[in-house]
Amino acid sequence: MNTSIRVTLDGSSAEVPVGTAVREVLERLRPDLAGQALGVRAGEEVLDLQRRLTQDAKLEVVTAADGDPGALYLLRHSAAHVLATAVRELWPNAGIGFGPPIEDGFYYDFDVPRPFTPEDLEAIEAKMREVVEADHPFERREVSRGEARALFADDPYKLERLEEIPEGDVISVYRDGPFLDLCRGPHLPRTGLVQHFKLLSAAGAYWRGDERRLMLQRIYGTAFFSRQSLERYLHRLEEAKRRDHRMLGKQLDLFSIQEDGGPGLIYWHPKGAMLQFLLRRFIEDELLKRGYELVYTPHLASEALFQRSGHLQAYAELMFPGMELEGEVRGYRVKPMNCPMHMLIYASQQRSYRDLPKRYAEVASVYRFERSGTLHGLLRVRSLTMDDAHIFCTPEQIEDEVLGMLDLVDHVMTTFGFEYRLALSTRPAKRIGSEDLWDAAETALRRALERRTLAYALDEGGGAFYGAKIDCKFHDAIGREWQGATIQLDFVLPERFGLAYIGPDNAPHRPAMIHRAIFGTLERFIGGLIEHFAGAFPVWLAPVQVRLLPVKEGHRAAAADLAARLRAAGFRVELDDRNETVSYRVRDGEVLKIPYILVIGEREASAGTVAVRRRGAEEKQIVMPVEAFMVQLRREVAERSRDPVQSLTAPAGRA
Ligand SMILES: [Zn+2]
Ligand SMILES: [Zn+2]
Repeated sequence: MNTSIRVTLDGSSAEVPVGTAVREVLERLRPDLAGQALGVRAGEEVLDLQRRLTQDAKLEVVTAADGDPGALYLLRHSAAHVLATAVRELWPNAGIGFGPPIEDGFYYDFDVPRPFTPEDLEAIEAKMREVVEADHPFERREVSRGEARALFADDPYKLERLEEIPEGDVISVYRDGPFLDLCRGPHLPRTGLVQHFKLLSAAGAYWRGDERRLMLQRIYGTAFFSRQSLERYLHRLEEAKRRDHRMLGKQLDLFSIQEDGGPGLIYWHPKGAMLQFLLRRFIEDELLKRGYELVYTPHLASEALFQRSGHLQAYAELMFPGMELEGEVRGYRVKPMNCPMHMLIYASQQRSYRDLPKRYAEVASVYRFERSGTLHGLLRVRSLTMDDAHIFCTPEQIEDEVLGMLDLVDHVMTTFGFEYRLALSTRPAKRIGSEDLWDAAETALRRALERRTLAYALDEGGGAFYGAKIDCKFHDAIGREWQGATIQLDFVLPERFGLAYIGPDNAPHRPAMIHRAIFGTLERFIGGLIEHFAGAFPVWLAPVQVRLLPVKEGHRAAAADLAARLRAAGFRVELDDRNETVSYRVRDGEVLKIPYILVIGEREASAGTVAVRRRGAEEKQIVMPVEAFMVQLRREVAERSRDPVQSLTAPAGRA
């Protein structure tokens, strides 16, 4: 039996006895870092310094250096224990559930007699400071099952967890000061390293997410290694709250979800519908310029079609149940995707290589049965509107087609001011289609990316079993990432539908097929736009571009004339002639984030000028001739300018 193991740490290695603690290895191989090391990374796993090594290992030191995810993991896992330590001090009888680190923070679940109040959170935070001040070491101990049972005899949730640990697995407990937890770790060396933290909220949470079990009280918090990072994060949270698309959707009267209508189904009110209309027009105009053809297909189809496409086999749990019509043996289903329909259109006649590529585009709503618990505003819905397209081409045409799509993605992302990144996912272990086919497809995707000189991440083996793909993720104004366009090759559907084209050799060949969506779904994309622009849409996209305010009764006619003139010129205009003061109506227009508010008073009515208030501008208002204003507005719309302040000049002086 081996009594020694080989451990490599940041490149240098040593032979050490089995059971040597990480700390000892560190002191031997990287004594310079022994003071700063918080733990080590072993492949995917992060180990704390007390962990005893039982097999050969390749380790890397984890320090608090900026943005090290391993360090943050250690910190937040430790912060959860500090939280539980504090709660147990204040509520000695509190039951303890799970307390893991999560993305951006941590939580811990407690069984307490009543929900936590904001005052409780303050008291707990103060107590946590004491635990940090005390600088308790986190002590790891491996124990037998019997010993663990005795230690947690009063903690039913821990006992339940204990019984699930498979026989033969290591059972470890961690102590910091008075608090003992059944936990796998890892943790920081001491509580004193948890310096910059904040409790964020408390909410009920069912034990193990099971609504038949007891509801526990969950406290969420976050922790960072520097005050600046914590403050930056808290600021981002505030910004996210201010930009929340559900809140702005209500405030700007864009959309609603109706209780009577059912969850996950969006009602677009006139202003939200205008947004959607403008986005559709934008993308459809682009598609027509790029040689796509529009198609419209039914929202409903016989199950036979979804049987043939394979959706009923592979996708059943996301499809709404069937409905039987006129006693037909096979039911009908609402469509979860448009692909089968577009396949039928392609297959409706014989195709020649001269007809290819065929690009069918359809902005269409599809329906997916997402669990009610997962629905979220516009981001996860049951009725989703895709800017979908399916391209049928020869294998040799894939590269150029993908290049064209990447160009469109770039155009759309740039128009909205989104930074984005691309990832190429290649053949997975389980796949269909010949190696030749995959070689050709992957080469085509890679070459298209390279021809556009785009940097991309490579997700080796991350493709779907039916084809390789390119995904686009974009960043909004506050740095959050959103799922955007997908470009997906598909070897299965052309096969299942027996698609063919006649080649130059007069023989039938199988076409290649590409699914692609640029916005993804309009629901999610509009949700993203609302948050990105915080509801202040650029002029070309604003549901209302101009609001007119007559100062007095006597200026109404002039304002109505101007409204008609602007509308006839293609602008979206509202007249606010309510019996309210001008300042009240100006404020109201600002709350609705309308780009331009024009005030029409005596001088304007007689001189053919307007007093223009620009959204977000520093000056109060600019008086200018109506003509000049219209020229500016037209240019801003044509350029899809994102910043009205920069593009409006003041030719007629200030008011
Ligand atoms: Zn832990
Ligand atoms: Zn498709």
